[in-house]
Amino acid sequence: MSVQPIDQFCKELKPEIKEALTKASIGSTVARQQSLDQAYPEPGKALHLRELANAIKSVNLADNLEKAVSSLERNNVKVLFAKDADEARKIILDIIKKKNAKNVVKVKSMTTEEIELNAFLGKHGINAVETDLGELIIQIDHERPSHIVKPAIHRKRDDIAASFQKHGIADYDEEPTHITLNARKYLRKKYFEAEVVISGANYVLAKEGAIVLATNEGNARFSMAGAKTHIAIAGFEKVIPSARELSVFLNLLGRSATGQHTTVYTDFVAGPGKAKNSPEEMYLIFMDNGRSDILASRFAEILKCLRCGACMNRCPVFRLVGGHAYRAVYPGPLGIVLSPLLAGEEFCKYADLPKACSLCGGCAEVCPAKIPLPSLIVQMRDEAKRRHCKIPNDVGFKAWSFIATTPRLWKFGIPFNRLANYLPIDKLRFGTLGRWLKARKLPKFKGGEFRKWFKKNG
Ligand code: SF4
Repeated sequence: MSVQPIDQFCKELKPEIKEALTKASIGSTVARQQSLDQAYPEPGKALHLRELANAIKSVNLADNLEKAVSSLERNNVKVLFAKDADEARKIILDIIKKKNAKNVVKVKSMTTEEIELNAFLGKHGINAVETDLGELIIQIDHERPSHIVKPAIHRKRDDIAASFQKHGIADYDEEPTHITLNARKYLRKKYFEAEVVISGANYVLAKEGAIVLATNEGNARFSMAGAKTHIAIAGFEKVIPSARELSVFLNLLGRSATGQHTTVYTDFVAGPGKAKNSPEEMYLIFMDNGRSDILASRFAEILKCLRCGACMNRCPVFRLVGGHAYRAVYPGPLGIVLSPLLAGEEFCKYADLPKACSLCGGCAEVCPAKIPLPSLIVQMRDEAKRRHCKIPNDVGFKAWSFIATTPRLWKFGIPFNRLANYLPIDKLRFGTLGRWLKARKLPKFKGGEFRKWFKKNG
């Protein structure tokens, strides 16, 4: 099996985008720490909460799923199961067709990104409009999210304003408040027209038979106020025992994602017709799409993910290359582990991702679910080896490893490194090194002095 070349890792982000991305990621990481310190000044308290989140997610998922199904059905939710993305898309399309609906609004959901739902519905003549501002921005330009919480983190306000103008949403105006107001005006009409709303579910409460939607823009409420049918889709790992345990996650999610004490809106949807003007019919699709296999594997911990994005904010590689470089829907440390696993038969297509990690351990320090990401990433490298995935730069690494582990060869080669200071290596544009150099400059070689120093002082 072979994989795609890693050119995309080398694709240079525009300097101003790289700077904005780094600034935003560092800002979120700092805000996370401040928010946790403020809420839990006692030493070890925040860590205890993260351990609790991990422990809650460790409880018997099968039992909770069973309980959730009966409570949801008691609340008149139609519960359906999809074994994979194909089946999930088909179920959703069938419901929409049965309702004869043309106007669909969507609440931000990574699960629907995972199954590429918008493109699929588009092919069947259904325009599903994203109602989260970031998702709307990337949807109109047919892009993928570059971050799981801030999907348009790679976009600048002037190009968003230009895009709004191009797509007839509003006249050019790059003032951030005006961009938001223009999107609001555009979306209000869509809420009124909507016949169906599609959402994910941040959590599914087994005891209460409800889904929980955590949003910042109030778009979930607006979407549900107009549409008559609500279709929610979630991986089965989103089930937690009850509302009691939810408090642990709500305390961690907003803080980990953006440093907020909590997300601005937390909606509990416990079946259709419960609130004034709410949808008259509600479906919840539990999707597997490879999750059962992950649960049975040594990577089961990754299913505890809360989708907060803290690991990517903290990751030095993500900050430099941006989310699109990971090629799959989940970027950063989370994606490095999850994307190859979700790819199933196409595992090797993403087998190079675990190499895009310096193993600095920062992601594990911030993960609210205490997922041991660096250890999973190392195991993922091992998994790629076991599956005999061919990774483009493996030959180079093997050669380097041979030299680095043969002291005589290493010592012999050191003086030759100086040649790099005089040869036009930076101009190389082919092979792995050439692709790497497209986005980087080689630093001047200054080495070779350590041995001399060690001989003298060691
Ligand atoms: S792996 Fe952890 S830090 Fe990363 S998105 Fe999931 S919960 Fe957040």
